[in-house]
Amino acid sequence: MKKTHNIYIHVPFCIKKCNYCAFFSHACTNTNWDDYENKIINEIGYWGKKLEKTTVPTIFFGGGTPSLMPVKTFARIISEIRKNFNVSDNAEITIESNPKTLDNNKLTEFCEIGMNRLSIGVQSFNDEKLKFLGRIHNANDAMILIENASKHKIRVSCDFIYGLPDETVDDVIHTCEQINQIGITHCSMYELTIEPDTPFSTMKLNMPDNATMATMYTAIGGTLNLPRYEVSNYATNGYECRHNQNVWDGEPYIGIGTGAAGRIFMNGTWYEQMGGGALFQEISNHDRAVERIITGMRTTRGTRIDSDIEKILNLEFAKSHPDMLVFHGDRISTTDSGILVLDDLIEKLVK
Ligand code: SF4
Repeated sequence: MKKTHNIYIHVPFCIKKCNYCAFFSHACTNTNWDDYENKIINEIGYWGKKLEKTTVPTIFFGGGTPSLMPVKTFARIISEIRKNFNVSDNAEITIESNPKTLDNNKLTEFCEIGMNRLSIGVQSFNDEKLKFLGRIHNANDAMILIENASKHKIRVSCDFIYGLPDETVDDVIHTCEQINQIGITHCSMYELTIEPDTPFSTMKLNMPDNATMATMYTAIGGTLNLPRYEVSNYATNGYECRHNQNVWDGEPYIGIGTGAAGRIFMNGTWYEQMGGGALFQEISNHDRAVERIITGMRTTRGTRIDSDIEKILNLEFAKSHPDMLVFHGDRISTTDSGILVLDDLIEKLVK
């Protein structure tokens, strides 16, 4: 059985590291884009051949800061993907952006080449908070980019971080009200977590306690006009990120670029692809099914119960907890109370 493959392209460069960031990216002012472009082109050629021009429904440029990428680099990558794969007519092509790095000219050129979804790292509408997070932009920069993007025929998503030190539930509600007012159709709301080896990990921060974080999470769901479709993601129906939905649903994806991971399906076997490039190793159907439970149960549409999932799913547990788990069609998902104890649920769901 031949499956379609989504493509993830990692662009690991930023102007400066943010204080909370543990993503694979480095601050680079003198990036050699030609070198990186060539590396990506080589990987595209390699996988195009290996997967015999498989169909590609989505392409996602993540980072790092992909909006730093020169227009000509983006154009060449898209053209090489088209040459080496069978890109669907209505393929979703997303670029993640930092508001300081994308003016209207560059945005227009990205759109002309085929970008049809822009993800904007807004993080906060408060300049003090943005400074504290170590962001290079202010709230006005983000508003200008949202406004510019809304003039193009593309879908727009905004990322926010909540649960900053001393932040209150009212502050978070206020941010959600601003999101409603602007009329954003997709947003991701991430809780601030302090990761090791980040500047924040060395500071003594007065973080909200777990109960306050849970109240903030519930308040976000209650205030945003957008329905939640994944633990941290909210969208008007039909405006969900198709790339992430496919990945969470267990569809294969190719990771291209330094540090990118992928899950490849070739000749009936799953492979885990590590660090971009041509490095991959077989992953058992059992392990792949566990991954699908972990990612699928984070979404409101849940995990599709196929024969691999059936083998590892603790049906007895699932059926005896209707307050937290629901079956619909061929899928299982959590209820609103189940999502709050998701990690525990997943542990018990896998036999
Ligand atoms: S812009 Fe994004 S990837 Fe870059 S340092 Fe900040 S949070 Fe990390």
